[in-house]
Amino acid sequence: MNEKILYSSPEAAERKEVTGWVSADGRFYGDNEHLARWAGCTHILCRECGKHEHEKSWTCCETCRDKHVIERYNAKPFKAWDGERLFSYSHERYFFDEQELIDFALEHNVLPGEMRLAICEPDILKMVDFDDILVDRLPEDLYLSDIAPELAEAVAKVNDIIQQTKPVLAWNPGKYRTTVTAAALIAAKTANRKDTAA
Ligand SMILES: [Zn+2]
Repeated sequence: MNEKILYSSPEAAERKEVTGWVSADGRFYGDNEHLARWAGCTHILCRECGKHEHEKSWTCCETCRDKHVIERYNAKPFKAWDGERLFSYSHERYFFDEQELIDFALEHNVLPGEMRLAICEPDILKMVDFDDILVDRLPEDLYLSDIAPELAEAVAKVNDIIQQTKPVLAWNPGKYRTTVTAAALIAAKTANRKDTAA
């Protein structure tokens, strides 16, 4: 059985001096200096390189982050450029033809080989499948063609056109990195001129 202690009795509580870590924002962390410092700081020293300070919301400094971006790019599989649209990771922009790339490289005094280029892939419009879209709303075992045959026919026509024309909605950087040499640029330009002349 617990000993009886009255609220007013000296055993109920005694005044003690408490010491501990208090963070810059005034919170008490007892013996946990690390937590107090973490809560009170805005910047920490990069754990990866130990050289640069960075905001504590990041896991490493800007230099290390830049290094990771390059490592991630280099880890992509390589494919030789064949005139496709390109995306430059270093300059964060798209290039729709070789002339644009040449102009940009000259203007910014950078070699295409230094621009961390990726081959773009088209985002092609997919066929519309109302049976799939309405799967939760159509009665079981019924298709759009059972309920609205005329509409289903119209959708089929739309899908035929989508299949024939394969509309490209957008171009996105794909999984392959590539590089473009000056020779490849000249070859592409010559080929394009022949196409236009033909
Ligand atoms: Zn670092």
